[in-house]
Amino acid sequence: MHIDILTIFPQMFEVPFGTGIFKRAIDSGLVTINPVNIRDYTHDKHHTTDDSPYGGGAGMVMKPEPIFEAVEAIKKGLDDKNVDLPVVLLSPQGRLFSHEVARELAQHPRIVLICGHYEGVDERVAEHLATDVISIGDYVLTGGELPAMVVADAVLRLVPGVLGSAESPLEDSHTGGLLEYPQYTRPADFRSWKVPEILLSGNHAQIAKWRREQIIKRTLEKRPELLDKAELGLEDKKLVKRMLHADNNIDRES
Ligand code: SAM
Repeated sequence: MHIDILTIFPQMFEVPFGTGIFKRAIDSGLVTINPVNIRDYTHDKHHTTDDSPYGGGAGMVMKPEPIFEAVEAIKKGLDDKNVDLPVVLLSPQGRLFSHEVARELAQHPRIVLICGHYEGVDERVAEHLATDVISIGDYVLTGGELPAMVVADAVLRLVPGVLGSAESPLEDSHTGGLLEYPQYTRPADFRSWKVPEILLSGNHAQIAKWRREQIIKRTLEKRPELLDKAELGLEDKKLVKRMLHADNNIDRES
């Protein structure tokens, strides 16, 4: 998979994608990250990428021309001109990013991410260039680089082979619509806080059962709304019922 990231700060991407899992994936040719400097598509001596807003007001707005030109250059370089290329503008006004959206984007061999700054990006980019506008949450950051890193990370780790087999994403939180079970490592006793006995038993069937119960329990405790959307089997539904019933009894007794 290939990700082009349009930014005025291409150097920001060196560390997150130049280390660890992503470095390994890039070195092995599984994925490529290409930070594109928007300034390279300006034509004035100062490489201007922003200007004051029409109608007045504080701050600056990112100009449309270099962003359009950068995306057009990417499209021109494609072997297959008819390929469905997602061009994603990062914006706090976009649809909310989630595991589902990451999965959608990971289906594509190539995507483009556009990072805004200042007061944002000239609206014509959202209207006539971007195919998607994505927000990573209901808060405002100073620039689109951190959101682009979040999106790229969540998407790339879904590309087959990026995670080693020991780091399978299949059981991660949100993958199956629920939260993951609690994880422990050595020591088994840390400051008198003990690892649940069952995990030391070596009984894999019982461990799998315990983990499934924990998945349901923590989702019920921390994010109950996820259970409404998740596809639950009969056993899971029985577990939810039992846990809710137990909770009600505790409430009544207290
Ligand atoms: N004035 C804009 C507004 O109120 O919608 C916010 C602009 S923000 C300061 C500058 C840039 O940071 C945005 O263009 C966008 O690229 C990025 N950004 C900030 N918060 C974001 C979020 N929650 N999700 C995605 N991108 C975000």
